[in-house]
Amino acid sequence: MVASVFGVLALQGSFAAHARILDGLGLSTLEVRTVEQLGSVDALVIPGGESTTMSMLLDRSGLIGPLTRRLCDGLPVLGTCAGLILLSTKILDGRSDQHALGLIDLDVRRNGYGTQVDSFETDIEIDGLDEPFHAVFIRAPVVETAGSGVEVLAKVDGNPVLCRQGPVMVAAFHPELSGDDRIHRLFVRNAAVGSSQPAICTRAVPPREI
Ligand code: GLN
Repeated sequence: MVASVFGVLALQGSFAAHARILDGLGLSTLEVRTVEQLGSVDALVIPGGESTTMSMLLDRSGLIGPLTRRLCDGLPVLGTCAGLILLSTKILDGRSDQHALGLIDLDVRRNGYGTQVDSFETDIEIDGLDEPFHAVFIRAPVVETAGSGVEVLAKVDGNPVLCRQGPVMVAAFHPELSGDDRIHRLFVRNAAVGSSQPAICTRAVPPREI
């Protein structure tokens, strides 16, 4: 079954470009800013932006608990750049109060490629795609370690840049900025089939509201 409503977390960052690509695929999309909106999506994109700010806004909006719970229940998700950082199990060079949601077994270093001026673009080979993908890296995180349960779909200089673990897909780059919808298509496919594997869910999950 294809997820019917694709949400894009719209607290901060590059959410509009993701929504445009999903719209272009003919999918029903919803910008998510509230717990109620989160409740009506069947899959979610967590965009790039600034992971420390997004983490703080997740607290302020009250989304942090419900989001963690839904992800642990297997909500299919695509996290890009800051989204990758938020979904990882361990954040290096992060702020001490920023959330690592613990949904994909990665040790990730924030700004591991350097600062804004070290942003770069490169063509990468991706498992499952015939032609290279032009990937845009902006103050990107470096995945230093991927656990054995993580499927690495692409690497740059030996470091994973596109990974999957059950319903969770992450990219260290910005797939919404290349005018190429193939990563989003992979995500849509994973949303349909990946949920047969449970999410790893390594953090305490808040109880369900009655
Ligand atoms: N460096 C940013 C962070 O720490 C991520 C950059 C991005 O999402 N383009 O969140």
